[in-house]
Amino acid sequence: MYGYYFDPTYILLIIGMILSLAASARVKSTFAIYSRVRSASGLTGAEAARRILRMAGITDVVVVPISGSLTDHYDPGTKKLALSQDVYDRTSVAAIGVAAHECGHAIQHAQNYAPLTIRSAIVPAANIGSTLSWPLFLAGLIFSIRPLLTLGILLFTLAVLFQVVTLPVEFNASSRALKMLGSSGMLGTDEVRGAKKVLTAAALTYVAALASSILQLLRLIILAGGRDRD
Ligand SMILES: [Zn+2]
Repeated sequence: MYGYYFDPTYILLIIGMILSLAASARVKSTFAIYSRVRSASGLTGAEAARRILRMAGITDVVVVPISGSLTDHYDPGTKKLALSQDVYDRTSVAAIGVAAHECGHAIQHAQNYAPLTIRSAIVPAANIGSTLSWPLFLAGLIFSIRPLLTLGILLFTLAVLFQVVTLPVEFNASSRALKMLGSSGMLGTDEVRGAKKVLTAAALTYVAALASSILQLLRLIILAGGRDRD
């Protein structure tokens, strides 16, 4: 077994890290650009969200402010739609776009959108997978126990699967959002284009996270294979 410091599979981790950093930098800069573009409707993110929920016939979801930046989310457990400080009471195209995206998740939940249901169902398994995969894999590597290596890889695969199912959920929430913003006139045609750029940049962070996890999985498989040859 080669020393850890010269492990050539580190390159896979580095590529994944660069992809994730690039995606996160891009969403931050795109959000910043369209945060400065005030929407013609003058609606705040919270107002836009409440309006969209009403249009969708959803009456049991509350829109609440949350601290932090880009921390916006919809919680299906509590039916709370949390909007960050740059979204909740801001009237920018970016704020309305993000607020509408979170409404997209609330609508998916209300309509039992299948990928969201599947995603919620595999959350516990994915959490166990991402917590236990490395310790088990490492133990398998150190003590040369093949079944532990396999188990570690299988558990990590669960975490990857979760990220795969996340993609349709995210892209669908954004396409619902843009459609509703355009058809309701909450955003004009040019403004919808701006909101789309923000939401696409946000979706790419999920793509980058998945790519990074697949590279990590590949690394585990390579390390396990190397172990076999020793
Ligand atoms: Zn989302």
